[in-house]
Amino acid sequence: MNCLEERILKDGVVKPGNVLKVDSFLNHQMDVALLDEMGKEFKRRFADKTITKILTIEASGIAIACSAARYFNNVPVVFAKKSKSINIDGDMYVATVESFTHKNVNQVVVSKRYLNEGDHVLIIDDFLANGCALQGLISIAESAGAKVEGIGIAVEKGFQIGGKVIRNMGYHLESLAIVDSMDDQTSTINLRDQD
Ligand code: 5GP
Repeated sequence: MNCLEERILKDGVVKPGNVLKVDSFLNHQMDVALLDEMGKEFKRRFADKTITKILTIEASGIAIACSAARYFNNVPVVFAKKSKSINIDGDMYVATVESFTHKNVNQVVVSKRYLNEGDHVLIIDDFLANGCALQGLISIAESAGAKVEGIGIAVEKGFQIGGKVIRNMGYHLESLAIVDSMDDQTSTINLRDQD
């Protein structure tokens, strides 16, 4: 069992609506030693890949992406910004993403200056549920002509469809922890054995 899995079992809180709260160590208060271990583990899992940029989405993916970047030769981290403006100019790559936790739809944007043809991208995010956030990031990378070399997720909720969809699209997806089931009534979390 890796550090993240141990921490989820110790401090993760199951909320109604299939939401796992990890606010005490990842999404609000952050344990930087744990983040560092996660970055190291992503490097181990994508050791054969040459990465020129890490792409994530604000806000919770940023810290994880930065920790990972330290293990990939300090490549730049680019995060997709959630934009309220409907007047997005031509300097931006744009994707529409439905938020799992907030149940709203955001346009997310990345400046064309920071993602280019020829980039080899590792996409990082905190959670994978239905895969909307990842599909938005993949579409932005592909609009830029960049190659998605891999996708690293902290917590995949294996009982939701996203993991299957993204793997079926042919992407190399690695999740540090996979939750097979959870129950807010009994506060139980069952993790998939990945050893
Ligand atoms: P998806 O787009 O795959 O449906 O959902 C992924 C996004 O929703 C992630 O970027 C994450 O911010 C948020 N998310 C999805 N499920 C959870 C969850 O159980 N807990 C938390 N904290 N965030 C989640």
